[in-house]
Amino acid sequence: MEDNIPRSCHEIALLSEKKQYQEANFWERLRIKMHILYCERCRKYENDNKQLSSILSDAKLDSLTDDELKELEKVIK
Ligand SMILES: [Zn+2]
Repeated sequence: MEDNIPRSCHEIALLSEKKQYQEANFWERLRIKMHILYCERCRKYENDNKQLSSILSDAKLDSLTDDELKELEKVIK
């Protein structure tokens, strides 16, 4: 991600990644939703993540470990 982005956006980005792996709880998901309502940057990031998720699920990579997924994510980004 870019430098110089607000701290709240960093937090949302982290939550967003958790959500991608179904680890975020209800309140975390709600926080993401509320934030992206007014934050265009994070809305875009969310969309990018969704695309990544669908790439991963299309490729049937569900059996990979979290570490392997994170490595893969680095390569794709
Ligand atoms: Zn934001």
